[in-house]
Amino acid sequence: MTVAQQETLSFGADVNQLLELVAHSLYSNPEIFLRELISNSSDAADKLRYEGLTDAALYENDPDLKIWISVDKDNRTVTIRDNGIGMNREEVIANLGTIAKSGTRAFKEKISGNGESSDSQLIGQFGVGFYSAYVVADNVIVRSRRAGTQFDQGVYWESNGKGEFNVKNVDKKLRGTEITLHLKKEMDDYLDPIRLREIVTKYSDHIVLPIMMEKLDKPSDKKDDSETVVPEEEVVNQANALWTLPKSEIKDEQYNALYKHIAHDFEDPLAWAHNKVEGKSEYTSLLYVPKRAPFDLWNREGIRGLKLYVKRVFIMDDAEHFMPMYLRFIKGVIDTNDLPLNVSREILQSNKVIDSIKSASVKRILSLLEELSEKSPEKYAEFWTAFGPVIKEGPAEDFANKDRIANLLRFATTHTDEQTQSVSLKDYVSRMQKGQDKIYYIIADNFFAAKNSPLLEVFRKKNIEVLLLSDRVDEWLTAHLHEFSGHKFQSVSQGALDLGSLEDKKESEEKKSQFEKDFKETLDQVKKSLGDRVKEVRLTNRLTDSPACVVFDSNELTGHMQRMLKAAGQSVGESKPILELNPEHAIVLKIKHESDESRMTRWSDLLLNQALLAEGEQLENPAAFVKSLNALVMELAG
Ligand code: ADP
Repeated sequence: MTVAQQETLSFGADVNQLLELVAHSLYSNPEIFLRELISNSSDAADKLRYEGLTDAALYENDPDLKIWISVDKDNRTVTIRDNGIGMNREEVIANLGTIAKSGTRAFKEKISGNGESSDSQLIGQFGVGFYSAYVVADNVIVRSRRAGTQFDQGVYWESNGKGEFNVKNVDKKLRGTEITLHLKKEMDDYLDPIRLREIVTKYSDHIVLPIMMEKLDKPSDKKDDSETVVPEEEVVNQANALWTLPKSEIKDEQYNALYKHIAHDFEDPLAWAHNKVEGKSEYTSLLYVPKRAPFDLWNREGIRGLKLYVKRVFIMDDAEHFMPMYLRFIKGVIDTNDLPLNVSREILQSNKVIDSIKSASVKRILSLLEELSEKSPEKYAEFWTAFGPVIKEGPAEDFANKDRIANLLRFATTHTDEQTQSVSLKDYVSRMQKGQDKIYYIIADNFFAAKNSPLLEVFRKKNIEVLLLSDRVDEWLTAHLHEFSGHKFQSVSQGALDLGSLEDKKESEEKKSQFEKDFKETLDQVKKSLGDRVKEVRLTNRLTDSPACVVFDSNELTGHMQRMLKAAGQSVGESKPILELNPEHAIVLKIKHESDESRMTRWSDLLLNQALLAEGEQLENPAAFVKSLNALVMELAG
C-alpha cells in the first residue's frame, strides 16, 4: 500500500446502530461531547506516560502533555487536540470504525432507543465516547500520529457518520490526535469559547492535564495590522489531581465530576471515602460507591478495579488487586508513593504494599456502607437494591470481615412480606420469639414461591419470622454464613422441623406418638404407591393449612439447589424429596380410610405432585397430574 493510499471503508454494523442510538439518546444533552473527547485525550496522555516509562523516545522531546481546544467560527469547526499516544492507521480503523467492546451487545439489548433519560445514563456506562461527536457534528475529521512513528505515518480519517469513513496517510508533525468537528447548523452555541469554557469547568476541571484555549481578551495594543499576532493561550481547567488536595478544599461537585470521569458514569455517585495515609506507608485513596449497577456486574471476569497512580503518575486502569470480588463495583483512585513507577500487573499480584492498601480500603468501604446504613437508610436501600446480591458473596470470600458483612446484609422476611430486602439480621434477632435460638430461612426459586411456601405455615402461626431468600447467590451465602451473633441459621426446607423450646414439648410428644400409631399403615401405603419417587413419607407438624409438603435431608441438596445446578449445566446426583403429611388435614384424614388400592395411588400422587409444585419443581408429567386431579374431583362431586 502506498503511503497516501485512500480507502473508503464501512463502519461495523454495530457502529451504525450505535451512532443512531447515541445521537438520539444524547440529543437533550449534547454538550457532553466535549467531556467525552477530553476524556479520550486524557486517556491517551495516560497511555503515553505509561509507555514512556520504558521508552522515553516516545515523548519526541515534547514532554509537556496537554489538550488544546480551538474554534474556527468562519468554518464552523471546533477542534480538540492532544499530544498523547496517538493512533496508527490500523488503530484508527479499528478504534473508530468498529466496536470491539464486548459490552456493546448488552448495551443494545438494554437501551430503549426512545430517547428516555435512562438511555443516556446507560450510554455513560458503556463509554461510547467518540461517537458523541456526531450529536453536534455532521462531519468529523481525525488526524493522528502514534508517538514514536515517522512524520509521514500520520493518519487522516473523515466521516459524516453515515455508514462510511475515508482514511488515508498524511504527513503530521505533531504527535497525538486532533479531532475537528464540523458543527451542525443548530449547534452554533458551541462556537462560543465562553460556552466551551463553561463546559470544561463543569466536567473536566479535575483532568490532570492542562486544557489550553486561546485567551479571551485579545491583545488590544496591536501596533499595526501587518503584524501577525500569535494568539496567547491559557489553561482553562484546574488541572490538578483532585485527590491530592485536602478534603476541606474539595467541593461535592468536584468529587462528583471526578467520579463521572473515572467511572464513565452519567450519574453522581452514591457515596465516597477519601483518605490520605501517612507514616509507614504513604498513599491516598478515593473510593466511590456508584448508584447503579453496571451492565456487566455479573460477569465476574469483567472489568473491575481502581485506577492506580504512583506519585501522581497514572500507571494503570482496572487494577483489580485492590478490591475483592464482592466489592468489584467500587470505583476510584489509589495513588501511592510506595511502589516503583515501572510496577507491573505481575508485581501487583503478590505484594505487601498492595495487600495492606487492599485490606485498609476494604475496611473503608465497609465503614462507609455501615455509616450509610445508619445515617441514610434510604440511600442504603438504594445501594442494596443495586448491589445487595454481590455483597452476599462477601462472607464466602472475605472471612476476616464476615461479621461486618453480615451486619450489612438485608433480607425480605415474613415480617414485612415485601419483595424489597430491608430487614437486617440485627432487626431479626431483636424480634426473635421467647425461646427461639435459631435464625430461620427458606430458599426458593423466587420471592413469591418463598413467601407462599407451605413450609412457613407453622412459623406464621407462631409468629416466628423467617428470612425469604430467592437470589441466586443465597445458597452460596447460607453455605458460608452459619451464624449471626450466636444464633445458627436453619433452613426450614431441610431436615425434620425442630422448633426447640418454642414447642409445647409435652403436649406435642403425646400428640405425635398418637398420630404415629394412627397413621402407620397409611404412611406405609403412600410410600408403597410412590415407590422410589420419594425417600421417605412421614408426618409433620409444620403445616397448618396444607395437606402435604416436600423437604430434603439436611445433608442433601434441596430442590432449589438441584434446579440451579442443572440450569448451570452441572450434573447433579439426585437427592429425593421427603414427603411430609399433615395429620390434621381433611384430605390426609380421608385417605387414612381409603381401602381401594388404585384410588390410594391416585391420592398419593396428588399429594406428592401438589407438594412438588408448591416447592417450585416442574412435574415430569403435568398432563397426567391434571387428568388424575380431575378424575378425583369428578368422583368427589359424585
Ligand atoms: P472508549 O474511550 O470508551 O474506549 P471511544 O469510542 O471514545 O471509546 O474510543 C475508542 C478508542 O479510540 C479508544 O479506546 C482509544 O483507543 C481510541 N481513541 C479515542 N480517542 C483517542 C485519542 N484522542 N487519542 C488516542 N486514541 C484515542
